[in-house]
Amino acid sequence: MTKMQPASDHHDHAHGQCQHAHDHSRHAATGLARAEAVCRERGLRLTPIRRKALEALYGDHKPVGAYDLADRISPPGGRRLAPISIYRALDFLVEQGFVHRLSSRNAFIACPHGHGANETVAFLICEVCGGVDEDASPAMRAAIKGMAEGRRFQTSYQVVEIVGRCEHCRDAAVA
Ligand SMILES: [Zn+2]
Ligand SMILES: [Zn+2]
Ligand SMILES: [Zn+2]
Repeated sequence: MTKMQPASDHHDHAHGQCQHAHDHSRHAATGLARAEAVCRERGLRLTPIRRKALEALYGDHKPVGAYDLADRISPPGGRRLAPISIYRALDFLVEQGFVHRLSSRNAFIACPHGHGANETVAFLICEVCGGVDEDASPAMRAAIKGMAEGRRFQTSYQVVEIVGRCEHCRDAAVA
């Protein structure tokens, strides 16, 4: 199991599930269809393992590690998929912009927003429900770009991960 806290039951009463879970499952069908379309357009193949991995990531609103993912998509009762196959599938999904890798957790999350692999995205990771919000606003990007330029720093790779409590869990804690 993950080292995150168990399911966030504390806000299940009001909305059935947390907002992240709702948002993610709502985007699953369109996210998968978009991935299929993008692959076709780019002359790439969403192979069964790539598709299964993406589907499984859409099935969870929390970041999932590669080994955990292997367990989830290996055929029941069958042989567990080799980590190398999982990593290859994940690399592909990240490169095509279907999935983000969260560096601080070494885990992956489906991106329903169509962010490119090289676009700057700030991740807001909730330590209570485990949900991840993404911010790709022009203001955030301009601030980071301006900061780097101000220092004459040539960026080759950037990670913006902020850990805390999401709006939903904050409110639940107050109530
Ligand atoms: Zn994204
Ligand atoms: Zn939360
Ligand atoms: Zn949540």
